[in-house]
Formats: sequence, structure tokens, C-alpha cells
Amino acid sequence: MKAVPVVHTLRYGWVVALLLLLAGCQQATTPHFTSPTPPKAGATASDPFFVVTDNYFYKYTADTQPFPAGSQFTSDMYPITVGYTLDTPEPAGFTLKGAAETAVRTWAQADPRVCIRSGVSADPRITVDLVAHIQYSNFTNILGLTKIVSGGRDPHFIVYVVTVDPVTGTAMLPMEITRTVTHELGHAFGLGHSDDERDLMCAHTSLVQGLTPSTFLTFGDAGAMWTTLNNKAINWNAAQPAVTPAAALTAAVATPTPTVTVPVDGTVVCVYPSAGTVP
Ligand SMILES: [Zn+2]
Repeated sequence: MKAVPVVHTLRYGWVVALLLLLAGCQQATTPHFTSPTPPKAGATASDPFFVVTDNYFYKYTADTQPFPAGSQFTSDMYPITVGYTLDTPEPAGFTLKGAAETAVRTWAQADPRVCIRSGVSADPRITVDLVAHIQYSNFTNILGLTKIVSGGRDPHFIVYVVTVDPVTGTAMLPMEITRTVTHELGHAFGLGHSDDERDLMCAHTSLVQGLTPSTFLTFGDAGAMWTTLNNKAINWNAAQPAVTPAAALTAAVATPTPTVTVPVDGTVVCVYPSAGTVP
């Protein structure tokens, strides 16, 4: 057996030490970053999609978006078709269609490409459902919830928003419902959650939001929408999908279900709680 000279062992030792030193330097200069996990098919009640992008304004990039490209709307799907279901009466001074159109105009402040065809399709990509209450798992204070009902290359979303404050039991103000619609439509357009309480896409309501106009976009919100849409490079010349005309909206559906129980199957992309608490 040939003995390994001591001088070689020492030489390799220096190499290892150098690598450790470089690794240490690398760690010291790499900013902290938590990449969100993509939504999972078959998410359970204890595992709703609830990714928060740390420092939303600075770090919202193509890499931190919550939806894989295949689950986002593509350029030929714009304008997105949005439809409406009334499972509870619209409060005085509020229309669901008007709220959604206000929400889209809010997001269009960030990028005019955010646009919808409202209430015209029998098979809308986003269905907004007005309900009095939402039951979902152990959440007791839900203002809104967004779920992917068909994913892949053909994304469809359902968005629930409540008319009754789940904490106080009192009627929500029209502007509060509109704010929820704006938050949830943000998800359908591909946005994740912000950790900044000033942002519309904060994962919960906050006092700060209550003090600002419901149509106020922060730099974080605007930057996230801009980033998201620019990753899609919307082609206005693309052929639009055919739209099957929707039946006229009526004041109430035939069999309203004011309290909607959302099944825990599929992929929930947002549970939007009030009062800043997340069960
Ligand atoms: Zn949300």
C-alpha cells in the first residue's frame, strides 16, 4: 500500500478550507429570499394556498409569482370574461357587476391591459359569486375566497365575496365589498399575497386599508400587476375565444344559497380573512 504523503493531505486541507471560506462569503452576500411554492392540486383544508411574498414591492418577480405559467391566463384570453352569480341580494347602492368593473379599473391603473368582458359569457373565466357567508374548513371570518375550478391551459376561477361582516354580523359597506372583489380578482389575474398591510393584496384586511380609498393601488400592488402582465406579453392581435352569450342577469337566482360551503377539494388560492387573523 502506498502511503499518502502528508504534504498532499495538507494541500487538500487548504482546498477544503478555501471552499468553506468561499461558501461562507456566498452566504453572507446572498439576500434572504423565500420562494413561494406553487398551488397544489388537491390542497386540503389545512393546506390552503396562502403564499406571502416577503417584501412584495422589491421582490415580486416572475420567480415569486404564485401561479405557474400554465395556470395563468394567456394573451389570447384577454379581455378576460367575467360573469356574476347572486346568491344573496345586492345591498342598496351596490351592484356586483359594477364592483367588478371598478376593481378592474383599479388594476388597470397599474397596467391598461387589465381588462374584462363583463357579464357577456355563459362560460366566464372568472365567476364572481355574491354570498352572505362563506363556510370553508375552520375559517370563521372569511370576506372572500378564490378557487381554481379548472387549471392547466384552461384556467377558470370562482371568486366568493360576502355581504355580511363575519365578525360583527353587520352589513358590509359597498366599498368594503368592492375592496374584497379587487383583492380576489387580483389573484385571478395571477397575483399572490403581499406582506405589507398597505397593499390591496395583503393576505388579510387591516386598519390601514380601512383608512385608504378602496381603489388605491400601492406601488407594491402596481408593481406586482405590471410584473405579472409583462411576463405574458399580451398580444392584442391574437384571435379571441368565442363567447357564448350569457342569459340576462336577474336580481336574484332561482335557488339562492346565501351561505356557501366551499368544498375543500381542488386548489384554493386565497382565503381572505378580516381582522388580520389567520386560523
Ligand atoms: Zn388573497
